[in-house]
Amino acid sequence: MAVVAIDLSKCINCGWCRRVCPTETIKYFSTGHRTHIVEPDGCIDCGICAPVCPVDCIEAVPGYTVAPELLTAAREKAKQHAGAQRKMKLDRDAVIARTLEKLREGVHAGA
Ligand code: SF4
Ligand code: SF4
Repeated sequence: MAVVAIDLSKCINCGWCRRVCPTETIKYFSTGHRTHIVEPDGCIDCGICAPVCPVDCIEAVPGYTVAPELLTAAREKAKQHAGAQRKMKLDRDAVIARTLEKLREGVHAGA
């Protein structure tokens, strides 16, 4: 298990990593210096954050061990996050389908 950390000397505070983190373990402002930090005990090492960083400043911290109960809680949070994302996508797809249907009806009514 490798937790990740942000190199604050390179971070441009774009917020992408915070938006994609499924455990909400990347925080902003919590240091009081307007920086992004990873709260290590919430990191499940999913690796989603590193590829979205435009300046490649998210790196592994080998050797950090998250207590099993914290890891379980973080994984549960990630599971709930994934469920919420899935629901949001289904809701969005339903809205798009309804909108397209209305547009089609409008076209046929006007024809
Ligand atoms: S590796 Fe996953 S859980 Fe850890 S900070 Fe990045 S996105 Fe969040
Ligand atoms: S994605 Fe990279 S640059 Fe953007 S806030 Fe996160 S660590 Fe900083």
